[in-house]
Amino acid sequence: MLLCDRAEYTKFDGTSLGSRKESNISAVESLQILGASPEALKTLPIKVESPGFSFGNLFSLLLTLAPLLFVGFIFFRFLRQMQSGSDILGRIGRSAPRVLSGAAAKDDKVKMPVVTFEDVAGAEQAKMELLEVVEFLKESEKFVNLGARIPKGVLMAGVSGTGKTLMAKAVAGEAGAPFFSISGSEFVEMFVGVGASRVRDLFKRAREQSPAVIFVDEIDAVGRRRGIGLGGGNDEREQTLNQILVEMDGFGTDTNVIVIAATNRPDVLDPALLRPGRFDRKVILDRPDVTAREAILRVHSRGKPLDPTVSLTDLAKLTPGFVGADLENLVNEAAILAARRDLSLIGPPEFQDAMERIVAGPERKGQIISAHEREMVAYHESGHAVVMHNMENGDPIHKVSIISRGMALGYTMPLPASEKYLRSKEAFEDEIAGLLGGRAAEEIIFKQLTTGAANDLERATELARSMITRYGFSETLGLRTFGQVQGNPYLGNLGETPNYSEAMSQCIDQEISQILSTAYQRAKNIIIHQKDKLEKLAKALLDIETVERPQFEGLMA
Ligand code: ADP
Ligand code: ZN
Repeated sequence: MLLCDRAEYTKFDGTSLGSRKESNISAVESLQILGASPEALKTLPIKVESPGFSFGNLFSLLLTLAPLLFVGFIFFRFLRQMQSGSDILGRIGRSAPRVLSGAAAKDDKVKMPVVTFEDVAGAEQAKMELLEVVEFLKESEKFVNLGARIPKGVLMAGVSGTGKTLMAKAVAGEAGAPFFSISGSEFVEMFVGVGASRVRDLFKRAREQSPAVIFVDEIDAVGRRRGIGLGGGNDEREQTLNQILVEMDGFGTDTNVIVIAATNRPDVLDPALLRPGRFDRKVILDRPDVTAREAILRVHSRGKPLDPTVSLTDLAKLTPGFVGADLENLVNEAAILAARRDLSLIGPPEFQDAMERIVAGPERKGQIISAHEREMVAYHESGHAVVMHNMENGDPIHKVSIISRGMALGYTMPLPASEKYLRSKEAFEDEIAGLLGGRAAEEIIFKQLTTGAANDLERATELARSMITRYGFSETLGLRTFGQVQGNPYLGNLGETPNYSEAMSQCIDQEISQILSTAYQRAKNIIIHQKDKLEKLAKALLDIETVERPQFEGLMA
């Protein structure tokens, strides 16, 4: 066989000889040098193959081309930079709204899942109010013919996770209209004027595709009341806000675009935004109550294999304060846990663990804690549980545990029996006593104080303070509030400005101490009188780490 630069000569006995062929002598010559007889060479079929690959060749090729490539690359980069320099301003000015659903999906040839009111659980009141908006979008002529002014803006207020974005999408979905979404915080750009041009562009596009829904998330980022906060005005925000208002004012009677703005701070919005003809409709998304929570859980467990023993009704009862996003997260976490446990159904233990994980952070397994510390934690938690159990206005204890979670070394979880909208003064006092039960147990059992009660003390103080300053529960200080909550556009809540005298502030402090010490005394009394029960519970905790409600009630009986 003969390669271009390499001669290989296989003898008939199978051994082979080889050498690099000299480029300046012929192949036959080189074979002769290797010892092939001329007769053999005559009968030899000579085949010339080009080499598949040779490092030598590649290397020399690269050497030749390298300077050329290098120069080309520099040139290319240079050109690119020149181009983007002239382009960058134009690019920033154009907004990048995300278009979803309905007609736009057809245009862009993207199949987007269309959200409807059916996917939004619970918020019946809000849905009813928004149904009208859907009608405007769908059959605007009907209203225009009667001379009615179609609303332009809806302000959706609610804490984050209550489904504001979801609801806005559902409005678009119900009306079959494209959904343009942009967030107020995106408008906060480095160049003045860019935000305004983005807004102009967004509204133009929406008008072209009308009927359409424009969703402005976090409107408070640009729509704060002017003139509050640090550092004076912010031109950029102001211009962006003005542009939004100009665009909305410019809507003719035939413009079929609805702007839905979302905020979790409706109180800080510029009044100019709320004037008639602007965001004059207000829809409030509350934290879901127990029935709404059940409905939301139902929506999110659709298509997930739940164990028949899982009761969504009970789950809803156990999750007061959870918003839609939390509940979605809960179902998702439970599904993840079930998958990690190789189960085919999601069962009650998965939901229980998912819930605790969300409320208190993941379990810290394998944490090293000394026997004495563990005992302290067991008595501390037992103290909370026993005191809470003995409070008239307390909720039944759902679970006590000394498994550490997140920052807490242990936890006592009450089960709220029913949704509460009004709380009595006594309920506050009972809750404070329950919070101080941990420290009371430490003091009585170990005659030693630890840092374990820091968080309890903080919460108890906060409760006592709000009893006096917010709810007028103090007999001596009377029916008034103290302090004005101050908002700030950049820092959020700045705290309170005192609107009371120095002398009054001393009285408030005294009153807070009074409430706390009374509650602590009550907690200590209960622990002294129920020491046997406290010890039983602490021993059980040291034994099995977690005591659930039925066993707890057994121990307390
Ligand atoms: P917000 O805009 O108020 O912060 P989102 O609309 O982004 O809240 O809600 C986050 C997620 O929570 C939604 O995608 C949805 O899955 C879930 N969610 C919130 N509220 C509901 C609800 N009422 N029904 C069903 N799902 C909800
Ligand atoms: Zn505690």
